[in-house]
Amino acid sequence: MKISELQISQVNNQIQALRKAGSFYGKKLEEAGISGVSTPEDFEKLPFSEKSDLRDAYPLGLMTAPEEKIVRIHSSSGTTGLPVIIPYTAKDVDDWAIMFARCYETAGITNKDRIQITPGYGLWTAGIGFQNGAEKLGAMAIPMGPGNTDKQLQMMIDMKSTVICATSSYALLLAEEIQKRGLRDKICLKKGVIGSERWGEKMRQRIRTELGIELYDIYGLTEIYGPGIGVNCKYETGMHYWDDYIYIEIVDPQTLKPVPDGEPGEIVITTLVKEGAPLIRYRTHDLSRIIPGECPCGSKFPRLDIIMGRTDDMMKIKGVNVFPSQIEEVLREFPEVSSEYQIRISHLDGRDTMRIYVETNGSVSFADLSDRIAAKVKSRIGFTPLVKVVEIGVLPRSEKKSKRVIDERYE
Ligand code: ZN
Repeated sequence: MKISELQISQVNNQIQALRKAGSFYGKKLEEAGISGVSTPEDFEKLPFSEKSDLRDAYPLGLMTAPEEKIVRIHSSSGTTGLPVIIPYTAKDVDDWAIMFARCYETAGITNKDRIQITPGYGLWTAGIGFQNGAEKLGAMAIPMGPGNTDKQLQMMIDMKSTVICATSSYALLLAEEIQKRGLRDKICLKKGVIGSERWGEKMRQRIRTELGIELYDIYGLTEIYGPGIGVNCKYETGMHYWDDYIYIEIVDPQTLKPVPDGEPGEIVITTLVKEGAPLIRYRTHDLSRIIPGECPCGSKFPRLDIIMGRTDDMMKIKGVNVFPSQIEEVLREFPEVSSEYQIRISHLDGRDTMRIYVETNGSVSFADLSDRIAAKVKSRIGFTPLVKVVEIGVLPRSEKKSKRVIDERYE
């Protein structure tokens, strides 16, 4: 999506605020000699920001509004080292609630719904984001937090909850318990709002059929408000995101150049009106793409595809960016192959090559199947892989998805 004139002026305001506050990023911009932006070309020259920078600003280096305007902090947990602290003003908290309420509305949820919230409450942004959005919408929030499945199910039945907010794994656990205990007739759930971790179609299908509900993917990250900056509508053609609050670019994670709409790459987010801790060109390391065109729902908000993985998973083959989930998606269309596969990338004769190993039983022609899969990959993704078909049981079984991709170029 090309940045609009209004968005440029909003980014310019963010830069002025950062510089005036002399906060961590204000200083960085000053050192880079950036005093403002007035054109899309200026914008594209702005430096990127990274989670590691945010850690360097610990504890309150990101604070860009005067302390008396900061009403809350949130923190994203790091697996290593210091956490990241994000300060919020009252307006930031309110803006976030407005965006989240919009997510619920996009999912067809109204003020008559009863929303059971199972993500955790605390320093991180999960539970409280779902809560503020529900209250902004005027729905009844049931703030459970995670765990205690007995109590979750009891409240779900007694309060007649109509919406469940959860991670995909917890939603699946609840679905299985409901099934096991024969409670399906006693629950009133209609919709599930699921956090944006990467989750497979199989899991989605199980939750959907076992609970008989519609599912909505919600996107967000603590550094940029929290969950609630985008959600899919009932047409499931990607997640609408709120481009009056954030500007999203998709960039090639290697060259950091923006890619055309429709092409996959890394999601980079710029806040447009944030006060407590504005972020410019923040690299999320999440992979997705902008979906071109208009959604059948008629919404003017642009769309982001569901998260396809992390930049660490991305491979570049013959100049085309590819990630394993795209290959998986193609393989799913061939009922004659098993769920096991292996992807091997190597560098042969000066070119990157992808070999895909798939399994099938002896009833189909291996050569024909190989050609059909290669042709489908070519038409979907844009390059022709070598497809090797083997007998069922030949490929190694592994619990870990990552082991299915072997990049021999770096071995
Ligand atoms: Zn839509």
